Amino acid sequence: MELTLQSPLHTLHGVGEARAAAFARLGLCDIRDLLLFFPRAYENRGDVRAVAETQDGQLCSLVLQIDAKAPEGRTRTGLTVTKLSASDNTGAINLTFFNQPWLTKSLRQGMHYRFYGRVVFGMYGREMTNPVAEALLPGGHLPDIVPVYPLTKGLTGKAVADTVRRALPLADALPELLPEPLREEYGLLPVAAAVRGLHFPPSLEVLEQARRTVAFSEMLVFQLAMRELRAGSRAKPAYPMQLKGAGAAAFFRALPFQLTGAQERAVKDIFGDMTSGQAMMRLVQGDVGSGKTAVAAAAIYFAVKNGCQAAMMAPTEVLAAQHYRSLTALLAPFGFRVELLSGSLTKAQKNGVHERLRSGGIDVIVGTNALIQPDVHYRRLGLAVTDEQHRFGVIQRAALVNKSTEADADSPQTHTLVMSATPIPRTLSLILYGDLDVSVLDEMPPGRMKVDTFLVDESYRVRIQTFIRKQLDAGRQAFIICPLVEENGESDDKKAVTEYAERVKPVYAPYTVGCVHGRQKPAEKDAVMAAFSAGELHVLVSTTVVEVGVDVPNAAVMLVENAECFGLSQLHQLRGRVGRGKHKSYCILMSDSKSEKSRSRLKIMTETNDGFEIANADLAQRGPGDFFGSRQSGEIRFKCASFADMALIGQTRALADRLWDGPLSQDGAYAPLRRAARDRLEAEAARNTLN
Ligand code: ADP
Ligand code: MG
Repeated sequence: MELTLQSPLHTLHGVGEARAAAFARLGLCDIRDLLLFFPRAYENRGDVRAVAETQDGQLCSLVLQIDAKAPEGRTRTGLTVTKLSASDNTGAINLTFFNQPWLTKSLRQGMHYRFYGRVVFGMYGREMTNPVAEALLPGGHLPDIVPVYPLTKGLTGKAVADTVRRALPLADALPELLPEPLREEYGLLPVAAAVRGLHFPPSLEVLEQARRTVAFSEMLVFQLAMRELRAGSRAKPAYPMQLKGAGAAAFFRALPFQLTGAQERAVKDIFGDMTSGQAMMRLVQGDVGSGKTAVAAAAIYFAVKNGCQAAMMAPTEVLAAQHYRSLTALLAPFGFRVELLSGSLTKAQKNGVHERLRSGGIDVIVGTNALIQPDVHYRRLGLAVTDEQHRFGVIQRAALVNKSTEADADSPQTHTLVMSATPIPRTLSLILYGDLDVSVLDEMPPGRMKVDTFLVDESYRVRIQTFIRKQLDAGRQAFIICPLVEENGESDDKKAVTEYAERVKPVYAPYTVGCVHGRQKPAEKDAVMAAFSAGELHVLVSTTVVEVGVDVPNAAVMLVENAECFGLSQLHQLRGRVGRGKHKSYCILMSDSKSEKSRSRLKIMTETNDGFEIANADLAQRGPGDFFGSRQSGEIRFKCASFADMALIGQTRALADRLWDGPLSQDGAYAPLRRAARDRLEAEAARNTLN
């Protein structure tokens, strides 16, 4: 049978049912998957050293002759153990192998082998334990750079490498995304050469070029996908809106405060977009506490006054419930029907909300990604607001916007407003929000005081408790964040939070202590948050569910336990929960970590309140993967490309612009690239409906 890229893996020689099942566990089903399953690392076995020059702890290769072999023994736990002595012409070394009888049998006295492993200076001189051994055959050549693949139970690295090797001829069938002139211009390899180079690189130079080639096309495809997304929503007329008769002034009069200059500018941008005839696609970016909600509320008011529905999507139930409360307070007086689509509703209540959404009985709907489920339909969804966008995927946002057109292709396009608090470096923001226009809230509401931040260790425990009590005496409230405890590989935030809360209850009595955690039912969580908001609870113990958006102006203390467990941007978000009212506020980072690195990291928090500065430090120290947090659902995945590679981002962005306006639509050689961009969009969309 002729193999193709779509052939299932069991059609490859040497892949039986068990092995195919193991590959399936890694998400690999056909030959194409396997070819694009790249090593996670490489061993540089070409780094051959002389025994005499090796250092204690050095990882390297040694080419050795076996001098002597002791008879196989057994450890007390029943493992076989074989000791060999070997040497090159600079010195001798002892080799120990545990539980590899088949291997040690094959190692013969007087013969030469290449051993790869860690040299340790032991009691009897240099030694290596369980090194990789490869026979040096006359005229044969051993590869210098050896791939290390992600593995799963039932698959060894060698099995993966052997299977990849068998599939490799089909690399020639992979579609060439980058036409030759482009590859030449950027010094990139043809796709087949890049794939071969990533699996079995003949040299570090080729490996680097192969990696760059794949990273380049991934990032370019992603950039083009973003342009597709934007073009898709711009192709059709949007819900038309008008300033005249909208009564915007009445809304601003009803606000309990005057907008800051930055808020006013953002609102002006938004009204301009919504009256332009084209769909608004705007990001409002502002540090925690800059007042994004009021800006969103203005947009929502405007949309409803123009005869449309508006939806606001938040990443957590807690935040959705809070937005629901504040939007109701602001908009119900105008006769708007505001509802919450929450996970705590009964089936019948949920059906009721769905029905009223469909029939137009709701003006403003607030919820989590429940808003984009397939059974939810809208009537004239004029505006979709996504709060804390970095928590969602680029495409989830589009899913909400496309709700109106998915039912009726002729329906006008929904306006999009995205709110993000995570201040991120500009290049990164261009990637994540490259399809959006941006308004920045670079001004805080007046009267905000800097949150004083302290880094302390366990020896301060009693002093901190006394301090918090004083704040409670003064009528303030406090947040306490404790990190997840991992038990048997499972994180149990319920246990962490409830045990902690029980411990501190007597400390703060008669003040009341409440807790929220991930195991609670949404209704229960809402009730606790509402009680804390209303001041009925004085201390709130939680894991990071309060991290985004929660607004309780009377809270003046944020105590973070085991602060070293959190990322800087996350700590900045947590700190943003206090200092939102008129009271002097404090953030206390408790950490017993002795590590110099984590202390200097945490110290940054005590030195600045500027979200951008913190984001840059965070990005530099941890890399973008951690920066976004593995929990976030909208994480964008690449095989080789990385958000830390700013040069690559800049280069592909400029190229995407050039191609988009020119050759992409006219030149047939670019058709595969365009198709790849569309496929990427679809794949992301599919992933999101699964979430
Ligand atoms: P974020 O940008 O973090 O979402 P919020 O919208 O939650 O911030 O606003 C933070 C707090 O500031 C809220 O209590 C809000 O009522 C208040 N606020 C917003 N805008 C102003 C303003 N112009 N003047 C005074 N207070 C404001
Ligand atoms: Mg907010």
